[in-house]
Amino acid sequence: MSRTVTGTGATPLSDVGTVRWYRPDESLPETTDAGTPEEERANFEDAKETAREEIEAERERTRDLVGEDEAGVFDAHLQFLADPQIEASVEDGIDDGLAATAAVREAFADPITQFESMDGMMAERADDLRDVRNRLVRILTGSERIDLSALPAGTILLAERLTPSDTAQLDPSRVSGFATVEGGRTSHAAIFARSLGIPAVVGAGAGIEDIQEGTEVVIDGNAGEVIVDPDEAVRADAASGRDVEIHTDAVETTDGVSIEVAANVGTPAEIESAVEHGADGIGLFRTEFLFLNRGSPPSEDEQYEAIAETLSAFPDGRVVVRTLDIGGDKPIPYLDQAPEENPFLGERGIRRSLDSDADLFRTQLRALMRAAASEHGDGLSVMFPLVSTVDELDRALEAVDEVAADLEEADVEWARPEFGVMIETPSAVFMAEELATRVDFFSIGTNDLTQYVMATSRENDRISYLHDPRHPAVLRAIHRIVQVGHEHDCWVGMCGEMAGDPSLLKLLVGLGLDELSMSAITIPDVKAGVAATSQADAATLASDALAATTISDITQLLNQ
Ligand code: PEP
Ligand code: MG
Repeated sequence: MSRTVTGTGATPLSDVGTVRWYRPDESLPETTDAGTPEEERANFEDAKETAREEIEAERERTRDLVGEDEAGVFDAHLQFLADPQIEASVEDGIDDGLAATAAVREAFADPITQFESMDGMMAERADDLRDVRNRLVRILTGSERIDLSALPAGTILLAERLTPSDTAQLDPSRVSGFATVEGGRTSHAAIFARSLGIPAVVGAGAGIEDIQEGTEVVIDGNAGEVIVDPDEAVRADAASGRDVEIHTDAVETTDGVSIEVAANVGTPAEIESAVEHGADGIGLFRTEFLFLNRGSPPSEDEQYEAIAETLSAFPDGRVVVRTLDIGGDKPIPYLDQAPEENPFLGERGIRRSLDSDADLFRTQLRALMRAAASEHGDGLSVMFPLVSTVDELDRALEAVDEVAADLEEADVEWARPEFGVMIETPSAVFMAEELATRVDFFSIGTNDLTQYVMATSRENDRISYLHDPRHPAVLRAIHRIVQVGHEHDCWVGMCGEMAGDPSLLKLLVGLGLDELSMSAITIPDVKAGVAATSQADAATLASDALAATTISDITQLLNQ
């Protein structure tokens, strides 16, 4: 008999396949026999070198397939691999007569426990440490790597959770879908699944743990369901795949309200995918990717080329470029980034551009203003990330004026693009009136806005019930931004993950957003959804949601 386990749908796709469990921790031997300390030291050095090569290769693959943001996780792995304290502790263990394998296990044990006891992003670091430890143990014990890139076609992968190095290996032509016990919509695994178009359900809980290898299951990424032993009709429906209808034209609601549906991009592959999926334009170009995976910052000309090329991919659309947004969870190894106890509340986004990265910021502004004068430059919009004060915006716009004066004086062709502010902090929500008089648009970054409004890390599954953009507090913040923006003739878009959640589309239309920007794969569904929605009905739903008190009230309204 068929049974269904419910989790969070990560990709709006379904497929059927055969279960294969991935349990990397359990398949590794505890230790090996110890050789002499010299031999064990040499084994450790060799293992580190192999691990470094593997991590670098996975970093590159993730960067190409998913994006620089996600690939950045591997920088943390490289740092742990070269951590002097961990290295010293392994060597001490070896000197005490342990095999390198046992010494590695011992050396990682304390740091893992310490990170586990912390909150938020720090707790996630425990996963990264485990990932590095397991990699070293696997190499040292000569254990076979479970090759996730070579799974038999039609595999449905089940796992407790999938780390960045696991997801980097998945081959969408072989993996029909995956489901994880843990994880939320913004987990690495979910974002990767959307980028690659793999049907996926995350956070399915203990209900999937007793599904046996070889069982046939359907992954329904739309409903967030894992259907075990599906009946013939469900099976056939999922297996038939989806004929995705691509809408290349702009869409409007049934009562004639236009909504721009744009893509979030970081890599050239994502720009291509945005065009293929019928994006009206780019709503978030994450420029960090231009800065990563290299030893020094890109030149003004390199940045100019990348932006001008993106503009030509959307000759009739808008391309919203975000200025450099590093810090927090987005490190750039060659820039000076002092370790911080609270990186998400520290030197990130515009704060760095106005301070330690002021020169980089000006170079980027020069490239942007030159690109605004290029062939399709009239479609360029530029926004600043993580603005929390009006003063920061004024200083950023002063830098724009100064760069414009320099370009003029040097007789370089330039134009002024439209400028906007990302709304990601509660202070920006409260200061929206003053911000709106200074810019042309707002783009709401709900990933960060939710984490700051709810005081909840976007990385910690244990409190993911709070990192929920449907919370009335977040909805009221969005409502305020749309109202204030429109009163001041600013268009208002959204580029956080919330914008691409089809189950929230009607609510977002009702809240009055002018633009929604998301992973390319969700664009066809969202465009179809907009075309089937009445703005008037949606506004009633939004007004009921704004009067609600709890997330369960909102869920009820959405299910009605
Ligand atoms: C956001 O915070 O919602 C956003 C789009 O920015 P990022 O996810 O890159 O921080
Ligand atoms: Mg953000």
